[in-house]
Amino acid sequence: MNGTTFASPDVLVIGGGLVGSAVACGLARAGARVAVLDQDDGGFRASRGNFGLVWVQGKGYGLTPYARWTRSSSERWPAFAASLQDSTGIDVALRQPGGFHFCFSDEELAVRKERLSTLQRELGGDYPYELLDAREVRDRLPAVGPAVIGASYTPMDGHVNPLKLLRALHADMQRRGVTLVNGVDVRRIEPQASGFVAHATQRAWRAPRIVLAAGLGNRALAPQVGLHAPVAPNRGQVLVSERVARFLDYPTLNVRQTDEGSVQFGDSMEEVGYNDFTTTDVLSAIARRNLRAFPLLRDVRLVRMWAALRVYSPDGFPVYDESTQYPGAFVVTCHSGVTLAAAHALRIAPWIAGASMPDELPAFAGRRFLDAGVTTNHAH
Ligand SMILES: Cc1cc2nc3c(=O)[nH]c(=O)nc-3n(C[C@H](O)[C@H](O)[C@H](O)COP(=O)(O)OP(=O)(O)OC[C@H]3O[C@@H](n4cnc5c(N)ncnc54)[C@H](O)[C@@H]3O)c2cc1C
Repeated sequence: MNGTTFASPDVLVIGGGLVGSAVACGLARAGARVAVLDQDDGGFRASRGNFGLVWVQGKGYGLTPYARWTRSSSERWPAFAASLQDSTGIDVALRQPGGFHFCFSDEELAVRKERLSTLQRELGGDYPYELLDAREVRDRLPAVGPAVIGASYTPMDGHVNPLKLLRALHADMQRRGVTLVNGVDVRRIEPQASGFVAHATQRAWRAPRIVLAAGLGNRALAPQVGLHAPVAPNRGQVLVSERVARFLDYPTLNVRQTDEGSVQFGDSMEEVGYNDFTTTDVLSAIARRNLRAFPLLRDVRLVRMWAALRVYSPDGFPVYDESTQYPGAFVVTCHSGVTLAAAHALRIAPWIAGASMPDELPAFAGRRFLDAGVTTNHAH
């Protein structure tokens, strides 16, 4: 740890998960001196328990700027992954061959059709997708079982190894001079005339700018600097199999074969508060549904399972905002931090460093919840 550097950063980032780390990487690339303060391993960390999709299809239904934002991130992903590899030597295993969303009934297929056609219309036609019948799905994915009656496919989707991504972000930012301090629980943020002081139990850090990227911790921190980020936990459970011979070259919404050969099955959505335990009933339901998609996995051995908490806002969309009461204080939080990592590093960070705000961002201000009278959370 370099004492001089972390004593006088330009920007303090609270939270060292995928969001805070991507922002810190981007800030360092923009020439800022940055310190990232992160809790110890007891903190809730969506970034260590997610499904690894870089997913576009269907996102932004009801909020077109989110569809544009997601797309802009996925388009920046190849260059971003290459830059991480150049800087750190870590290959995050990005693959963007397109992705499938399986349907098990005509009703599900009709819902996909309506959602994707609406998005395509709202994006002025620039939203490639295909709806496939059962035969077309099996022509492309021979391992798919008869229970799948159709699918939507877009060439925009992909996946990465999310743990390698987190490691690469940490390595990249540290190579660029960012100080990462673990074991710091920021309890209080004090706005001052010349910036902000972040108080933890043992000591305090100060900087002219501060970025709240503390995942679920943003809920309590944001009001201290005039921001609003009423995020709440949403639990997802995931199963992982032993490594098997490659049978799936594309990510699908609920099943993907990782770069290392294991198969990941996900994931559930449950509102159970700050509870990241697994449950047998939900894991069995995940296994059953995904065996209907890929019957050949019937005898595969499951080797791991976990639950992790999503960082969910009341409408499910991100919160990106700068405080009007205390300029220089920002909040950055979302529930698709893998997909959006490239946008966070390459579009959000330059804005925080002083560039103009990306066009899509006004739609994500936290005050939308106050305008809508939302003071409690309903993840959906
Ligand atoms: C089951 C599951 C599946 C998912 N699948 C996908 C997917 O396929 N694709 C995708 O794009 N996204 C996915 N996500 C979402 C993605 O994982 C999250 O959006 C992302 O990890 C959020 O990152 P974060 O840094 O905001 O939060 P976190 O990873 O929770 O990190 C927040 C950090 O802030 C620290 N912190 C909190 N409070 C304080 C404080 N007061 N002081 C200091 N530090 C603090 C915490 O310790 C933690 O390290 C999934 C999530 C889950 C749970």
